[in-house]
Amino acid sequence: MASQYISDFIVDAGTWLRGVGRLKRIIVLFTISCFLCMTLGVVSAAANQTVFPAGVDMYTLNGQQQKMDAVNFIENGRVYVPVRYLANACGLYDGSIVWDAPSQTVTLQGNNQMLSLQAGNRQLVTAAGPVEMDVVPQVIGGRIYLPARWVAQYFGYIVEWDEPGHAVLVYLPGDDKPQVTPTQRILLVNKLKGLPQDYQPSLLVNFGDFQVSALLQQPLQQLYQAAAQQGIPIAMTSAYRSYAEQKTLFDERARLYGVAVTEATVGQPGYSEHETGLAVDIGGSAVTYRWLETNGPRFGFVLRYPRGKESITGYAYEPWHYRYLGMPVATFMQAKGILTLEEYLHIY
Ligand SMILES: [Zn+2]
Repeated sequence: MASQYISDFIVDAGTWLRGVGRLKRIIVLFTISCFLCMTLGVVSAAANQTVFPAGVDMYTLNGQQQKMDAVNFIENGRVYVPVRYLANACGLYDGSIVWDAPSQTVTLQGNNQMLSLQAGNRQLVTAAGPVEMDVVPQVIGGRIYLPARWVAQYFGYIVEWDEPGHAVLVYLPGDDKPQVTPTQRILLVNKLKGLPQDYQPSLLVNFGDFQVSALLQQPLQQLYQAAAQQGIPIAMTSAYRSYAEQKTLFDERARLYGVAVTEATVGQPGYSEHETGLAVDIGGSAVTYRWLETNGPRFGFVLRYPRGKESITGYAYEPWHYRYLGMPVATFMQAKGILTLEEYLHIY
């Protein structure tokens, strides 16, 4: 509604402007800009409180947990948030974000402010002139990520790192700090980090001859479908394994090959991703492995023990072992060239 009026106004003003001199035109344009800024500012002046837990695909806006189709991330101590979610956190609506793909530039309007940022460019363009940032916006997987602090402060918001909650808080000065609710963090299981004694995987469902976490059912079906369409053979050889099954497997291998050799490929009971229901062993031929490595991420699956990362993962290269992390995290890791979950979580 409001934007319709505004565009009508711009058309009318444009017609009228043709008749006036250059100086007048600049003054009028400036007035229109101010008017637009004020209007949009009033429309979008919602006092939001947002919590972005680091590295996950969900956030809390005014106490409500929301899903993102992307992840925020921290690099060199700076917090990056995909533009749409950062703008929403700063009280701006989707309509006040303009993305220009050819120039990789995004413009944000609201709260009497207008900002322009370009991927890879340190300059933050404001109504008062350019400001030099010490970071640059980044385009990852076709999506622009903005340095949260630089942008939020222009819309009057505070950006704060909450260490205990491992989250980024965005709120207005004078408001109470938003509460960090315990969010589902990414579960890390490796040789150093075992599962809690009382660990119970979330709901398990049958998938072929195996059981997997219910979270994996649909993504796995889609992965199988995509592979079939491209004529890629794919077969599952293992999925969920209970503590008892894991113990039997480990002991059996240890008896045959010795503990050291077994440890390089099989987790100790309590230290195997297979006990989470979030890991699957899938494969077929060398073609399958290549296809999975490239295509797994768009279905949320990440090759967990890549070649050359043995010192970080503690495991020999296993082209068949995939961990489900969800599409936003998996595609982000792929786009950024982050090969292990340990590196993604900065825990190694
Ligand atoms: Zn495995």
